[in-house]
Amino acid sequence: MFCPECGTENPDGARFCGNCRYELNALNETPTDNHSNDVIEVDQGESTVTDGMKYGILAASVFIPFIGLIMGIIYLAQNESEEKKEVGKLWLYGSLGIMVVYFLISGDL
Ligand SMILES: [Zn+2]
Repeated sequence: MFCPECGTENPDGARFCGNCRYELNALNETPTDNHSNDVIEVDQGESTVTDGMKYGILAASVFIPFIGLIMGIIYLAQNESEEKKEVGKLWLYGSLGIMVVYFLISGDL
């Protein structure tokens, strides 16, 4: 092989250049352990449980007040007695309160 430093031809396997003592073996060494096959870590998505809880709370925050609103409208629409109107108002206010509570809870998560 030829010395990369001075161009002098040296026998294969020579450790140093015969002319300039350049270390030839340093170039012959092949990088054997470059750790190119490291395991690629896959994101397992551990936040699926909390996401499920969030979706459940969001669904509840939609459906429970929705049922409350329907119940309140039904009671108010019947227009039979003041007592039933009061119950309808309770449903409406209760559903609105539950809605606010659920939004606050879902905001904290
Ligand atoms: Zn040389």
